[in-house]
Amino acid sequence: MSAPTTPAATATGDPTRRTAVDLAAAIAAGETSAVEVTRAHLDRIEAVDEAVHAFLHVDGERALASAAEVDRRRADGEPLGPLAGVPLALKDVLTYAGAPTTCGSKILEGWRPPYNATVTQRLLDAGIVILGKTNLDEFAMGSSTENSAYGPTHNPWDLDRIPGGSGGGSAAALAAFEAPLAIGTDTGGSIRQPAAVTGTVGVKPTYGGTSRYGLVALASSLDQPGPCARSVLDTALLHAVIAGHDPRDSTSIDAPVPDVVAAARSGDVAGLRVGVVRELGGEGYAPGVEQRFRESVDLLAAAGAEIVEVSCPHFRYALPAYYLILPSEASSNLAKFDAMRFGLRVGDDGVASAEQVMAATREAGFGAEVKRRIILGTYALSSGYYDAYYGQAQKVRTLVIRDFENAFAAADVLVSPTTPTTAFRLGERVDDPLAMYANDLCTIPSNLAGNASASFPVGLSPDDGLPVGLQVIAPPLADDRLYRVGAALERALGEQWGGPLLDRIPEPTARPSVEVQA
Ligand code: GLN
Repeated sequence: MSAPTTPAATATGDPTRRTAVDLAAAIAAGETSAVEVTRAHLDRIEAVDEAVHAFLHVDGERALASAAEVDRRRADGEPLGPLAGVPLALKDVLTYAGAPTTCGSKILEGWRPPYNATVTQRLLDAGIVILGKTNLDEFAMGSSTENSAYGPTHNPWDLDRIPGGSGGGSAAALAAFEAPLAIGTDTGGSIRQPAAVTGTVGVKPTYGGTSRYGLVALASSLDQPGPCARSVLDTALLHAVIAGHDPRDSTSIDAPVPDVVAAARSGDVAGLRVGVVRELGGEGYAPGVEQRFRESVDLLAAAGAEIVEVSCPHFRYALPAYYLILPSEASSNLAKFDAMRFGLRVGDDGVASAEQVMAATREAGFGAEVKRRIILGTYALSSGYYDAYYGQAQKVRTLVIRDFENAFAAADVLVSPTTPTTAFRLGERVDDPLAMYANDLCTIPSNLAGNASASFPVGLSPDDGLPVGLQVIAPPLADDRLYRVGAALERALGEQWGGPLLDRIPEPTARPSVEVQA
């Protein structure tokens, strides 16, 4: 089945159907309690997550205790933040003290970090209730969550399809109404691509805009945590909670966070120059994706934006450059998983040497994609090849940055489809790494340049009835522009659709035909 036929029942007052901003207001006004809201979401997870498999770990007890604390603070008249008491799903690549952090890998099985990532700490300080940790491709390497050592997540729009990756668990949790807020991380598209294929909103902040402290590194020069939600305003409010300078991250930017919340409330695009990237479209793009993309650009024009065409000729080299830079950094970052410090240890019989234990553990603990990238990265960095591969890729990176600089001289934001196609079927590309990598064609340039980018839902493809995302890219530190465009689209499209896109999603009750592993 591909097109949703039965609109999900929208029981008014059902906390799992409400926006985060609405829930927080109801909690602050005493119309409901954070405990009640949290319970409703835990019940929802209980009801649907066997089919969706968005979560790797749910900590109901701790979530209810955090919620009770918010309710106590409210009763005592203490000030509450704008998202206090609202539940959230956390990608299992960020540490949350005491909770398992697996990164979707067997090698970290059993590891419970003793500290909170800065992002996690800011969520807790804001009174946001962390429900649990969400599924992802192993160490965030992938576009489908099929590389998770714990089995794939299923797209709530069609359980036989991928929810995107690597952050498919966070996006699916939103689309299945298991949480109104989620955190993802984006190294080459892992926030934006899952958002696109699930009909949700995902934002990759400017590199250095959110802290990487406590984020298990994939590629340090590309990774960036970011907010995900079902509405533009909810995403902006979450962005404001997690963003801002962190002295514990040496690449964190010490500058004021742009006013993303005001931008999301305004949605004013009058006079905004919107650049359509010529190279991100055409051959290889599904007709339905291109159609929805063009219609959205027309809507922006109707809302007063000035549409221009820009050319970024070096984007065609971005994908190969990324697949040299990322494995190089990853091979170095993953060297620390050596059986001595974290998680799994295999073959330690008291006789085997440390080297043998390390080798046996890495052999057993890493999946095929992780091994592939470690080997690629080690090769690209080895003496004699370094200049030919890693060095060349870094030069391409500079050319991509220059393309952006030229484009941003002519446009305030750039737009493209987020992904060339809608969600493909589970199993369809898992044995074909190159086909899998092609998903990231549109999203990778922004990571290489470190600017801000987002994906917003722009409808269902007429080809298959599945969600289509529009990518917006803004210059570094102009994250607010993403929200301006997102809010304008949400407003115009909401009028057309008569409500949010996700109101049309079917209930994820049927058993997926691809078995969920435990
Ligand atoms: N799909 C991309 C990859 O496999 C992006 C990953 C990410 O953003 N974490 O590298």
